[in-house]
Amino acid sequence: MRTVKSPFKFKGGVHPDYNKELARDKAIERMPVPAELVVSMSQHLGAPAKCLVKAGDFVKRGQLIGEKNGFISVCVRAPADGKVVAVEKRLGPAGGKADAVIFDTTAKPEGEPAEPNNQTIKQSNNQTISPILPPLDWKAASREELLKRVEEAGICGMGGAGFPTNVKLNPPPGKRCEYLILNGAECEPYLTADFRLMLERADRIRVGVEIMRKILGGPAVRIAIEENKPEAIAAMEKAFADIEGNVEIVVLPVLYPQGSEKHQIFATVGRVVPEPPALPIDVGFVVENLGTGAAIGDAVEKGDPLLERVTTVSGDAVAEPKNVLAPSGTKYSDLIAFCGGEKVPPAKLISGGTMMGFAVSTPEIATTKTTSGLLLLSSKRVFQYSSQACINCGRCVRACPMNLNAAEIAKAVESDDVKAAEDLHVMTCIECGACSFSCPAYRPITQFCRRAKNSIRARMAAEKAKAAAAAAK
Ligand code: SF4
Ligand code: SF4
Repeated sequence: MRTVKSPFKFKGGVHPDYNKELARDKAIERMPVPAELVVSMSQHLGAPAKCLVKAGDFVKRGQLIGEKNGFISVCVRAPADGKVVAVEKRLGPAGGKADAVIFDTTAKPEGEPAEPNNQTIKQSNNQTISPILPPLDWKAASREELLKRVEEAGICGMGGAGFPTNVKLNPPPGKRCEYLILNGAECEPYLTADFRLMLERADRIRVGVEIMRKILGGPAVRIAIEENKPEAIAAMEKAFADIEGNVEIVVLPVLYPQGSEKHQIFATVGRVVPEPPALPIDVGFVVENLGTGAAIGDAVEKGDPLLERVTTVSGDAVAEPKNVLAPSGTKYSDLIAFCGGEKVPPAKLISGGTMMGFAVSTPEIATTKTTSGLLLLSSKRVFQYSSQACINCGRCVRACPMNLNAAEIAKAVESDDVKAAEDLHVMTCIECGACSFSCPAYRPITQFCRRAKNSIRARMAAEKAKAAAAAAK
């Protein structure tokens, strides 16, 4: 294992205020299981899970409550013991509604003593909790057994996209993984959850990397970390010091969006992923978030499914910024209360980071497996503006890391010419926000790109359905 400096710098990118000092020195804290959990059946990319419980059911921590519902789907397990009080549509962090199971975690079946949140008390006292799945010896287990474990543990990418991990780790016939990249860039402002994981759980990340490497047939490993995290680099160097094979920690320059899959592939190995529908595996890469790596280590060696994650709660409007280990389905209001409540009334709540996160309208929204951050920003940090006409300054074009003519795409979408946006390769947009961030006319360029992509995807889905119906006749 060796540490190298990345020799590759991608074109474009921006330097937002990182504001990581608010939470970077806060050790991960486990919060008590809240009295109510709101567990979405749509915590991942692809088809929502099929709900298996109904109001009135009592469930145990780790019990399957949603089964995967298609190839690109992920199962959901109960994050705590409790009683299902409702199954209903609830708003998610990205704005859409999906079926969610509402739990009362204080309720017990008749005859059982009321002992709320027993599992949290045991966890915080480091008492042993029976494993939910049988622990596996990853060295002895077959590739198929390990893949099955990743699937039954309900693991999806924890960096934000939520792609089913068992699918990503099982390349289609004819494709081979040459490089496994572990994404530790965490280039989003404010977020420090991955940084703390590297400091505090580097041993679990290493186990996850060994398991993923075994599943993928022994690719080279590149661990990508930005140079502004020297303590994390040192912790990972220590944890991986005696690992065998072709493994490198690649130190990247600080530049947003360094954490994007395509830019990590370029920054670590210098290879370019072609335009969609090409995927990283088409050029020999699998990229996984390091939190996903730790979750795989726990699922295999300890038998722990993915029931909780670390979320950074930060911003100038929260009393005490923290990195919180909370069960999936924890309402933002409970996370905020665990962090001492509001310091001042927030002008904006953001799920995720300031560049790619989503502003949310209510703290009653709950976390999912992909919730990396919750930001509370006061009116001092939230800029009110109105969008103006483009002045053709070209800043958005210089900032775009995907070499897109962002200004022209925005103009095309503004005049409802989605075809022109498609011809300008809008489908390659990674929605990083660097263009909007750079625009002196405050134009919502990223939102225009997102709108065009959604419209093109809807058209493609309709065409596919029409073709399938015609073929079935
Ligand atoms: S949001 Fe899209 S168009 Fe804007 S900079 Fe990022 S990739 Fe380029
Ligand atoms: S940065 Fe804004 S004003 Fe400048 S070219 Fe792009 S869209 Fe136009």
